[in-house]
Order: sequence, then C-alpha cells, then structure tokens
Amino acid sequence: MSFKDLKLNRPLLRAVAEAGYDNPTLVQEKSIPLILEKRDVIVSAQTGTGKTAAFALPILQSLFDSQDAPKKGKQVKALIISPTRELASQIEENFKTYSSYTNLRTGVIYGGVSIEPQKEILKKGLDILIATPGRLLDLHKQDYVNLDYVETLVLDEADLMLDMGFIDDVKKIERLCTKEKQVLLFSATIPYKVEQLANSILTNPERIEVAQNSSTSKNVNQFLYFVPKKNKIELCLHVLRNTIKGNIIIFRRTKFGVDKLEQTLLKNGYKVTSIHGDKSQTARQEALDSFKKGETNILIATDVAARGIDIDNLDAVVNFDLPNIPETYVHRIGRTARAGKTGMAYAFCSADEKTYIQSIQQLIHLQLDVVDDHPYPLDPKAKPEVHKSKRTGSKHKKGRKSVASKKKKKRWY
Ligand code: AMP
Repeated sequence: MSFKDLKLNRPLLRAVAEAGYDNPTLVQEKSIPLILEKRDVIVSAQTGTGKTAAFALPILQSLFDSQDAPKKGKQVKALIISPTRELASQIEENFKTYSSYTNLRTGVIYGGVSIEPQKEILKKGLDILIATPGRLLDLHKQDYVNLDYVETLVLDEADLMLDMGFIDDVKKIERLCTKEKQVLLFSATIPYKVEQLANSILTNPERIEVAQNSSTSKNVNQFLYFVPKKNKIELCLHVLRNTIKGNIIIFRRTKFGVDKLEQTLLKNGYKVTSIHGDKSQTARQEALDSFKKGETNILIATDVAARGIDIDNLDAVVNFDLPNIPETYVHRIGRTARAGKTGMAYAFCSADEKTYIQSIQQLIHLQLDVVDDHPYPLDPKAKPEVHKSKRTGSKHKKGRKSVASKKKKKRWY
C-alpha cells in the first residue's frame, strides 16, 4: 500500500516523501482510514512503529480539507496530550514536518520551562496544540487556552500517562473539550486501567493492534555478563575500552545510578550525557540534542525518561541494571538494529538479578550468549547481596518517615 492509496492530499504526500517515507507502516495503514472516517480508535502500538504519523497525518488532512485555517483567529481544533516533555516536543516536530506545505499552525506547551513564551504562542492562535497535562490545565485556568473548538483529542502513551499519575488531569481535560469530539487513544500496552479510561471517554471505538513485540530482532547480537553488583562499573569501563564502539545507550534503574555512572565515565574521559526525571527540562533537551548531534556518544538513561524518544543510529544498548519487567528488555534493545542494521546488546547480571534474566530468556525464547572471559566473574554460588540497615534501636524513633513526608516523596524515575 502507498500513501496515495490512503487518499492523503498533495501537500501531505509531498512532505511525507521529503521525510523519506516510501510506504505507510502497518499502524498507519490500519489507523489512517478509520481516523479519516472520524471513528474513535484504541491503538496498541509502541514507539518506532510510526504511530505519531498514524494520528498526525489524518488530523492534518481533515483540518486542511475543512479549509478554515485562517491566519488570524485560529482556534485549537486538535489537542494531543503527551505524558513527557520530550515526547511532546517530538510530536510537535513531526506535525511541523508533515504540515510544512499547509498553513496549519502547531504549538507545544509543557512544564519545567518558562510559561511566558508559551502564552505568546497561544495568543497568536494555533490549529494543533500538543501539551503535557499539568501545564495545559495551568494555562487553561489562566484563560490562555480555549478547548471549545477541539474536534480531535489524542491521548498518546496512555499507559505511561496513567503510570505517572495523570488520570485525573486527563479526565478533566477531556471534560473541558466538546462532547462531540473524536478521541484517539494510543498506548504501548492496554492494561486494565487504560481499558477503564477508554470505556469512560471513547465512543464505540475501533481497536487496532500492532503485534506486541516479544521477539527481539535477529539483527541484534545479545551478550550476557555475570558480574558481582559491586564490580558493574568496572565491567562497564572494561567493555567500553575493549568491546563496545559507536553510539551507545546505557540503561540504569535509578536516577542516582545514572548520575553515579555518568560521573565515573566523565572522569575516565568519555563523551557522555544523561537523562532522568530529576533533570530540568532544558538539561534533558540539551542532553538529547548533544547525543543526536554526535557531540556525545554515550547516553545514560532511566527507562521512563528514555521512553518514546526517537533515537536513531544506535550501535549498542547496555543493560547495566536488568529490568524486572521482561518486556522492558525487549523495548530497550529494540532501539538498536533499526532499519535493517545490525546492533549489539549487553546485559550485566548480578546474583540478585538472575531471576530477571530467566524471565527475559523465556519471553524472547532465546538463551543469551554468556561472556566468561572478563576480569570480574561472578561466583556461580554467590548469593544475592543483602543490604543491611546500619541503624539500630527502635524503628519508631527519629529517622522514621512521617506519612506527610512520604507523600512528598519524589518520583524515582
Ligand atoms: P514513531 O513510532 O511515531 O515514534 O516513529 C518512529 C520513526 O519512524 C520516526 O523517526 C518517524 O519519522 C519514522 N516513520 C514514521 N512513519 C514512517 C514511514 N511510513 N516510513 C518510514 N519511516 C517512518
């Protein structure tokens, strides 16, 4: 099937061709006709499948066709809600690419940066608005956003949105739009709570599934290192010196772990940058830009911070900490070996992560190649290291956290 068969108009076909897309991807083939028919849809598809264009192209086509995109007095007709700032700005870039031969105007608003420039953008008028939930509600409250004209509402990465605690915000936003709007829900997975949300805000939706990926690409060479937890940083330095070359993403479980590894690699002269949920928006964007431009070749990230980010040309993925959810391993290493290239994936497994590696191997129906000849082997009989608290005495005394302070606990990702 070609984009012409999907009945896209000329300005869009031209932009898509210039973006280098020859044919629609599966999720585009399935979604675009239904979205053009104004149906509500639930699409389960992961990043990398072309899902952004799957909703952006039909939205642009419908807005273009209605030919009421005057320069002045524009009203938001399409609203896209995204859980993270990086994803929001990536979606905006895609809309701008596809709409370059139309007079439709796209803008993005998200938290973590100054609100004033965003007010200016809104004042000028937009056809398409991409937003993270908190900043949208904030600007709506201040009367800078009018959602009375929204014809299509998109919830992107709905599962992540709910995991991040945005359920009430999303429901509120939905109620602020008109009742008659079309709702498109995109999610990597459809757990029960996404299903519940869909039931409450979608009308007679059509379901589209792009096969869940439980297999890893044959083009990724996967290696497994057993290593004591305390030697993982040394092992990482060892493989960076001797084995891994090119553009590398290293996954760690916590923000603290990301920072610690970054400091060590910087001290050892590597060009490295990092992203996690505690960094300011500007710092996160700068980190991504420096990696995409090639100023740095190692990016250290937590899963949530890296989710949905489109990074091409990866040579290797390092699973410094193994994920406890086996599908996460598949997502991580799916970032290499895209578009027919070959890639490398390395997993560092300590004694307490052995059950994780078993579940991963079961899921992907593959035994990973174990690398034995490295300087930090794990004693096969080693027991998981248990962290003992140094504190003695009553746990009810000082140092115990109150309910109020637990509530203030920061996100870990
Ligand atoms: P997404 O899943 O939306 O994050 O898209 C992943 C990547 O695929 C992005 O870099 C898009 O530019 C690219 N892409 C989207 N649609 C197509 C297509 N039909 N052909 C080739 N690349 C595409």
